[in-house]
Amino acid sequence: MSELYADIIVDISHEKLDRPFQYRVPERLKDVLETGMCVEVPFGNGNKLLKGYCIGLGNVCKFDPARMKEVRAVAEGGVGIEGRMISLAGWIRENYGSTMIQALKTVLPAKRTVRKVEHRTIQRIFGREEIISLMGESGRRGQFAKERLLRELAEQESIPYEWVTGKLGVSPQTVSSLEKAGVLRILRSQSFRNPVKIQQGTEQKRLLSSSQRRIVEEVMGDFDAGKPDVYLLHGITGSGKTFVYMQLVKEMVERGRQAILLIPEIALTYQTLLRFYAMFGDRVSVMNSNLSSGEKYDQCERARNGEIDVIIGPRSALFTPFPRLGIIILDEEHEGSYKSEATPKYHARETALEVARMHGASVMLGSATPSLEAYYRAESGEYKLFLLKERLSGSLPQVHVVDLRRELKEGNSSVFSRKLQELLAERLSRGEQSILFLNRRGYAGFVSCRSCGYVMKCSHCDVSLSEHTGKRLICHYCGYTQEMPNICPQCGSRYISGFRAGTQQVEEKLRQLYPGVRTLRMDADTTRAKGSYEKILSAFSGGEADVLIGTQMIVKGHDFPKVTLVGVLAADLSLNMSDYRAGERTFQLLAQAVGRAGRGSLPGEAVIQTYQPEHYAVVHAANQNYEGFYGEEIIYREMVGYPPVSNMLAVQVFSREEESGFALADRLAAEVKEKFIKPEEKGAGGTIPLQLMGPAPATIGRINDIFRFVFYVKSLKYGKLVKIKDMVEEGLRRQPPDGELTVQFDFNPIHIM
Ligand code: ADP
Ligand code: ZN
Ligand code: ZN
Repeated sequence: MSELYADIIVDISHEKLDRPFQYRVPERLKDVLETGMCVEVPFGNGNKLLKGYCIGLGNVCKFDPARMKEVRAVAEGGVGIEGRMISLAGWIRENYGSTMIQALKTVLPAKRTVRKVEHRTIQRIFGREEIISLMGESGRRGQFAKERLLRELAEQESIPYEWVTGKLGVSPQTVSSLEKAGVLRILRSQSFRNPVKIQQGTEQKRLLSSSQRRIVEEVMGDFDAGKPDVYLLHGITGSGKTFVYMQLVKEMVERGRQAILLIPEIALTYQTLLRFYAMFGDRVSVMNSNLSSGEKYDQCERARNGEIDVIIGPRSALFTPFPRLGIIILDEEHEGSYKSEATPKYHARETALEVARMHGASVMLGSATPSLEAYYRAESGEYKLFLLKERLSGSLPQVHVVDLRRELKEGNSSVFSRKLQELLAERLSRGEQSILFLNRRGYAGFVSCRSCGYVMKCSHCDVSLSEHTGKRLICHYCGYTQEMPNICPQCGSRYISGFRAGTQQVEEKLRQLYPGVRTLRMDADTTRAKGSYEKILSAFSGGEADVLIGTQMIVKGHDFPKVTLVGVLAADLSLNMSDYRAGERTFQLLAQAVGRAGRGSLPGEAVIQTYQPEHYAVVHAANQNYEGFYGEEIIYREMVGYPPVSNMLAVQVFSREEESGFALADRLAAEVKEKFIKPEEKGAGGTIPLQLMGPAPATIGRINDIFRFVFYVKSLKYGKLVKIKDMVEEGLRRQPPDGELTVQFDFNPIHIM
């Protein structure tokens, strides 16, 4: 009988997880030991017995067999919480590509190395009326940070300190000046406790609407029948999704189970938080990226010990070690931030399904604009689909689509169409607020005709070509290049060029047009400093400006009840990025942007300016018609074989030297071609089982002097791509490239590198 060896990690919660040690598995344990189990092993010179975890089993001996020690014993009770985390790490490693150590570091909290941190809460001493009058005074003096803090304090008796200095962007100096003046006090405590005093919420008394109740009953019915499932809740903002989540969590808690609620950080507002605090009090905890690793570790300990039932947080909160998880909820499931950008590049949506499977838990995905992935699976019956149609607060805005080609033809070459100018002027005279949105994500110098809207595309990939130095156009999927044309191939006009416009120019133009207009700008430049994002948002919601100009950052999260106009300056910017998800992203952004107007009691309007008013993403976003958009988009994905219809693996090569990087990418791609793409399949018509694109330089070919190359493999079967990843890893192990080169994998990438 062949020997069995186990990779053992000793002390899994150590700050820097050490490499695994290999041990021989004695005959008597061969049928017992599984990955994830806790074992006892002799360690070091004295052969002291230590607790360790088995992270893998195999028949290959990696060390001197004569000196290899044996696993002494397997702990009773099978696979515990740690074991589940280790199995999960194994699953992540396998499905996304990374080392086991990288995967373990992803799922396990690092042990605290710092001493206990102090937690502070700001509590008001002044009464509400005094606070409000002080607030008015600060506003008149232009002390806006102070005003923001006082506004919150007028609403809440106490607020977590981190929230004030973080989300509200108020400096510690401002807080302490108010402390000295006796307006507030700062409470300090050693342990991490829910700092907010529970407000008497109206929500507990509120009843589920009949459509909400149907959802909760079906989910809980499946769960109680021992058949927890995956659900997609499709409902526009304000349709009551969050209330459904709260009820589901409540039902789970009543059954002695725990819940994880994932929210993209950018969308987590204090209002949402308060609703959960009001319902679950001390039993809910929030995880955000401001927490130190020590604090995160604390949170995990509390979850493990049963001190909390609910955790709210971004992607990584998925790894909270609850003993009896009942449900995982992903709000805004279409958000790109659910995909990790660092290796292992896991997707929280798919990983949530695996975590739920391990626990026998339900999964609820929610969105106003579901990802194509989720909707596709819902359509195919893999997930159950629920719909919430009506908005419970505010109303949907009236949308105008403006054809920019016509504006140009009729003599208006400004960035503001006549319709937008008219509506802006109206808002300014009425003292209402507007948002101008310049969608610049994925902007990579696409080339289009200002006269007819024609966009230069790759003839092999159906994505837009990017402008490159030396007057050439390049496709970042396949590497195809061509000459930059002087005249538009479609209409012959000379107005063909790369699109360039920034938020700064827009702000200047706006000031020329409306002297005295108060503006705020939000983009990568103005939000670089920590807390500046929140500062701008709360300044705007406090009425410190008439117009907020920004990139896609402004369309998420915060509610601005006083905004009655949203202008999208150039919808085409994201439509033409060289990425197969351009249509999906544009639809989401436009639908969200449009939904920003009319959230309060005043009705809203929206203007979408575009060179392609007939594009289905624009048309359906203007009508807030998700199904219409999905129907057309999925046909495109089917035709060209992109996810979710097919699967896609990006193999990314990073190198110090351009040539060696490309050479490695080329070598790896050739190996894949040789092993996996059989000659007879290459030319075959119909659906190609496996397709290789590239290698090509990445969209951003060099960052920090590191060159980037990428090739893509498409396959209907995810498992096939995992095999390819394994083969590439194996090839790299056998013939390691020199130290200056690294290779990363990205499965079903959400950004084209
Ligand atoms: P979403 O998460 O889809 O944006 P919310 O759950 O936040 O929706 O609901 C929108 C608004 O409607 C909130 O103010 C919420 O308190 C209210 N609401 C939700 N469900 C109900 C209900 N069953 N009865 C009355 N009001 C509700
Ligand atoms: Zn043209
Ligand atoms: Zn191409």
